[in-house]
Amino acid sequence: MAHSQNISLDEARAIMRAQLVALTETESVLLGAALGRVNASDVSSPIAIPAYTNAAMDGYAFAASELDESGAARLEIIGSALAGRPFDQPVPRGSCVAIMTGAMLPAGCDTVVAIEKTHVEGTSMIARPGQRAHQHRRLAGEDLARGALALARGRRITPADLGLIASLGIERLTVQRRARIAYFSTGDELRSPGQAPGAATIYDSNSYTVRAMLAAQGVEMIDLGIAGDSPAAVGSALDEARDRADMILISGGVSVGAADYTRQILAERGSLSFQGVAMKPGKPIGFGRIDASGKSLPFFGLPGNPAAVMACYYALVREAVSLLCGDLAGELPKLRLISDAAIGKSSGRTEFLRGLAYRDGMQWRVRLTDAQGSANLVSMSQANCLIELPHENTGVAAGDTVSALPFHGLI
Ligand code: AMP
Ligand code: MG
Repeated sequence: MAHSQNISLDEARAIMRAQLVALTETESVLLGAALGRVNASDVSSPIAIPAYTNAAMDGYAFAASELDESGAARLEIIGSALAGRPFDQPVPRGSCVAIMTGAMLPAGCDTVVAIEKTHVEGTSMIARPGQRAHQHRRLAGEDLARGALALARGRRITPADLGLIASLGIERLTVQRRARIAYFSTGDELRSPGQAPGAATIYDSNSYTVRAMLAAQGVEMIDLGIAGDSPAAVGSALDEARDRADMILISGGVSVGAADYTRQILAERGSLSFQGVAMKPGKPIGFGRIDASGKSLPFFGLPGNPAAVMACYYALVREAVSLLCGDLAGELPKLRLISDAAIGKSSGRTEFLRGLAYRDGMQWRVRLTDAQGSANLVSMSQANCLIELPHENTGVAAGDTVSALPFHGLI
């Protein structure tokens, strides 16, 4: 099978992007269940927001022509307007209406003076000089015109989006169907937490990190457990995965060791697009497609080492999941941080280091966490970001600026 080997991370990303297609099925969900889902159709506003011109402050409403040259006014108070209880009589010359924030401006009124800029003498309101025509009003449609685009398709729905859609009176959204991503760990040495350890066993941590990273992207994992190191075990887990999933992730067995069958089994059932990427950790990662009856689904063969799995997720899998889900957000924002440490590196591969970003006065700096080996989860647990040193980079001096991806809310 012809496939690329040891390509750069950028090349790997380009190959992956070219192959990933968004799922087409959608479903309708109530707003209360829409957080984190991917919006599947453009939503235009059925109403103007605000729906009517209203006061932005508590105070008095009147016509701008009542202001004298100094911006002051003395006006008779003839009534009041509250949110939900408009003042619906005419406002004659020389008069004003007490108004609360959000209340509809009475006909003929276009200016509001804040209550703290006024005092009352008998039934008159005296506004201090310095008021401006049209101040403190919110015009109908100024936030969103009727028919304007309120929420574009391809957005992962945020708390603010939910508020915006609710403010339009819309109760349901059409969202992308949830992607189903099958995962299994491979390795004769693996046990699940809760099981008794053996003489030469280790606990399966990858299924926990992968499940959690998928969950952070709003995706459910089909957990196929642990497959032993035999072609039959890996093959049958893969067969179950392809029947049930939209994408398949496997960890372990992708290197070239004696017990590494994953590559061979994958190649028998589909095609590899690349195997081996010039990155550290995560070099053994493979990507391709598995053919199933009537469909062909993307898969990643991830390394076994736990920190490498997480780096691979950040470097490639996260974006693949987004593309599958129809999430058009694109690249993650990166921080520019000052490195405490000098970091040696040779050109020719992308390196990811686990870092702790912290504030030092007005500056944000980053220090490396503990041992950075691809098996070391302690340093990953201590970290709040991954520093990414690009392919061509030839090392960092202490005090240099590096770019880093913050974990919070992202992976
Ligand atoms: P492999 O790629 O299968 O050779 O695995 C590389 C290393 O990662 C070995 O030390 C494995 O024991 C370890 N490893 C593989 N799978 C897992 C897993 N699911 N959780 C934790 N460590 C693993
Ligand atoms: Mg293994």
